[in-house]
Amino acid sequence: MAKIVCVLYDDPVTGYPKTYARDDLPVLERYPDGQTLPTPHGIDFRPGTLLGSVSGELGLRKYLESNGHELVVTSSKDGTGSVLDRELEDAEIVISQPFWPAYMTAERIRRAKKLKMIVTAGIGSDHTDLQAAMDHGVTVAEVTYCNSNSVAEHVAMMTLSLVRNYLPSHQWVLKGGWNIADCVARSYDLEGMHVGTVAAGRIGLRVLRLLNPFDVKLHYLDRYRLPETVERELNLTHHTSLDSLTRVCDVVTLNCPLHPETEHMINAKSLANFKRGAYLINTARGKLCDRDAVAAALESGQLAGYAGDVWFPQPTPADHPWRHMPHHGMTPHISGTSLSAQARYAAGTREILECYFEGRPIREEYLIVQGGRLAGVGAHSYSAGNATSGSEEAARFKG
Ligand code: NDP
Repeated sequence: MAKIVCVLYDDPVTGYPKTYARDDLPVLERYPDGQTLPTPHGIDFRPGTLLGSVSGELGLRKYLESNGHELVVTSSKDGTGSVLDRELEDAEIVISQPFWPAYMTAERIRRAKKLKMIVTAGIGSDHTDLQAAMDHGVTVAEVTYCNSNSVAEHVAMMTLSLVRNYLPSHQWVLKGGWNIADCVARSYDLEGMHVGTVAAGRIGLRVLRLLNPFDVKLHYLDRYRLPETVERELNLTHHTSLDSLTRVCDVVTLNCPLHPETEHMINAKSLANFKRGAYLINTARGKLCDRDAVAAALESGQLAGYAGDVWFPQPTPADHPWRHMPHHGMTPHISGTSLSAQARYAAGTREILECYFEGRPIREEYLIVQGGRLAGVGAHSYSAGNATSGSEEAARFKG
């Protein structure tokens, strides 16, 4: 019998929903590269319901308890006396989502003597100290592809919102105004602009495909080149350095994982190489950017806008400068946790647990760390090390 601790975000302030805006979700067969969607033996939830919050429990309770395991679900994860810290001692598996991450620091991993696996219900396992997981033989797995397209849609939405100045214009309506000049004094067409993605993995490539019909010029930076057929189809320009991409792009979007090589890649020095008035969209990880350098670039006009949904740490204290800087379109971390995405990553988490308990291999594409080293997708996209330092700041958030 295993103890599983699952850290999820709180239910809505209005209570767990009894009804939903829509009755069903479109049925998807496969992801764009042919990878199959999660294939658990079964699920105990209705797709389209809220699974990522505490009462949703990722739909796991019936499966785990009927197999004799103990499931603890909590949103209490930061600061002294958190439920996570209390329950860690004898936990075998910790599950959390990047939106409300259980920061699995070296200290926590050291203390959790029975810990065998950390599952990211979503994509992006930077909230776990991967070096410590390797050192302690803990497996780290995530549900690759489950919300990549969800995030790409958010990037497309934020690109148009910033360039066309949508959010301030909507505010004028709410305020009862008809201030056309105020709205359009910062509004442009996307058509003809140069748009570049840092990383052309699952999200980055999808972003390029979604924006291609807007007749933009597309660029990408990645350590590996995309197939020639794709480069030709989208008329892509490949860059080998960040500066080469940012020098020519009007819109830059970050779509790489956070790991020691990418931490703070956007800083005062790299921002100085952006075109003046560029837009920066970051739905990858907050720590890819130096927080104060981004705020300063918006103040000075070096950036015309910044949007995304990722912060560091999460949840973010009220005095974080990105809450108050000009010309931003930030949301809490939501792009990868639409109800559609939740159904996929809840099923993927169940698949990973079934494999673990039945002694079957976890899909290569879900693995980040296994057997003391980076494995699967982790070996391709991450570098060894730790990106969790400073996460204790999350305790300053007051809900
Ligand atoms: P993929 O693994 O498909 O893509 C990641 C890409 O990043 C790979 O192509 C990898 O390229 C590239 N990369 C890694 N390091 C570098 C580097 N130093 N410079 C340039 N490129 C690099 O993952 P996804 O596209 O699905 O997701 C990407 C990230 O987006 C996740 O790791 C996560 O942090 C974030 N995310 C955010 C979500 C949200 O809700 N906001 C939800 C899902 C993901 P290479 O080929 O060079 O190894």
